[in-house]
Amino acid sequence: MKTKLLILFGGKSAEHKVSMQTAKAVMNAVDLDLYEVHPVYIDAQGTWNKGKRLEGKVEDIKALEVHHETTSLSPFSLANEEESQVVFPLLHGPNGEDGTVQGLLELLNIPYVGNGVLASAAGMDKLAMKAIFQQAGLQQVKYEGFIRKDWEVEKPEVIDRIERNLGYPCFVKPANLGSSVGINKASDRHALEAAIEEALQFDRKIIVEQGVVAREIEIGVIGNDETSCSVVGEIVPKTEFYDYKSKYEDGDTALIIPAEIDSAIYEQVKEMATTAYKALDCSGLARMDFFLTKNNELIINEVNTMPGFTPVSMFPLLWKHSGVDYPSLINRLVELALERHEEKM
Ligand code: ATP
Ligand code: MG
Ligand code: MG
Ligand code: MG
Repeated sequence: MKTKLLILFGGKSAEHKVSMQTAKAVMNAVDLDLYEVHPVYIDAQGTWNKGKRLEGKVEDIKALEVHHETTSLSPFSLANEEESQVVFPLLHGPNGEDGTVQGLLELLNIPYVGNGVLASAAGMDKLAMKAIFQQAGLQQVKYEGFIRKDWEVEKPEVIDRIERNLGYPCFVKPANLGSSVGINKASDRHALEAAIEEALQFDRKIIVEQGVVAREIEIGVIGNDETSCSVVGEIVPKTEFYDYKSKYEDGDTALIIPAEIDSAIYEQVKEMATTAYKALDCSGLARMDFFLTKNNELIINEVNTMPGFTPVSMFPLLWKHSGVDYPSLINRLVELALERHEEKM
């Protein structure tokens, strides 16, 4: 019997569009001899829509949005389905990569690909993530965090704290997001205030980080209790930093795989990535992003518990260069989902 694979995509998130790209790529790569694929499109308002069973290739993303029955689906109705199903939440950002959907699937007792509730939630919130990384002894940039209310009530104090503890340039980010949405580099007070106002459009919680001048390298990790690491890749954006445009629109960013780094550095990246993976109790997969300074100092930037996942995204490319092609990677992740589900019983 084929395994029923429910692909969740879209989502109520500023990364909705990115998820659409990912979903199309995964649907076109899964082996339909192995899986019975059912798309579930979550629209921008958060309504779940059950699509028709996938029969062949998906031509364009727009079709995916309309190719579903008009009746919406109660997420809870998934529980009534037959036994052998696995959910693949191909969702980025809040309401999907952050433990919410994972919590629902836990309650419904349905196996799902990727990280569980804790790792997803802690990985999504950059302040929670940094606190856990700090506890694990991982080197990080200096940072400050605050909520909208702090900004409204004590703006001068917040600015003063940032200028005193971090200085310029600094990076202002919504605490819970991805794809560089809402992130800006600030080089003076005026830019800092504008960047904070912009980030507040996306989240009530803000993180400001000291800017570093460094190479950007990334590594893929897969596994549950036992993990393996991919080769390391380097990102060389043509823009001032790796912003949304350079990620998805310009296509001008160079991805160098494997990165030209010393083997000693590679070993250190693997060690730090594994420590980070375990500290967050990750399972399934994660992409860990690092900075490598001129003095060969390694700093962990962040984790992505559902990294960009098209065949030309960093995570699948890292695995391709490590001997795991795209369809095999999908199969492996489904296996890991089932394995974790069984171990929990
Ligand atoms: P994604 O989830 O798509 O990887 P994100 O939205 O979680 O991205 P970050 O990875 O934290 O955002 O940052 C996006 C980019 O901004 C980085 O790849 C880097 O180019 C730049 N950047 C972020 N923080 C810093 C920093 N402290 N110093 C220098 N550059 C930074
Ligand atoms: Mg991220
Ligand atoms: Mg991300
Ligand atoms: Mg990143």
